[in-house]
Amino acid sequence: MSQQQCACPKCDCSVDSQAIEKNGQKFCSESCAIGHTDGSTGCGHNCSCGK
Ligand SMILES: [Zn+2]
Ligand SMILES: [Zn+2]
Ligand SMILES: [Zn+2]
Repeated sequence: MSQQQCACPKCDCSVDSQAIEKNGQKFCSESCAIGHTDGSTGCGHNCSCGK
């Protein structure tokens, strides 16, 4: 099985069964999926990809 990475530019999290798909890309969380336009600084996985 190949692991995929979250499509959020700064996010290093891997995505699998819980991936959120948007525009053909896979994201690890809703925050990443919307490009952190909600003002979130991270994805809930201890990374600060939204900063
Ligand atoms: Zn992340
Ligand atoms: Zn992510
Ligand atoms: Zn992110």
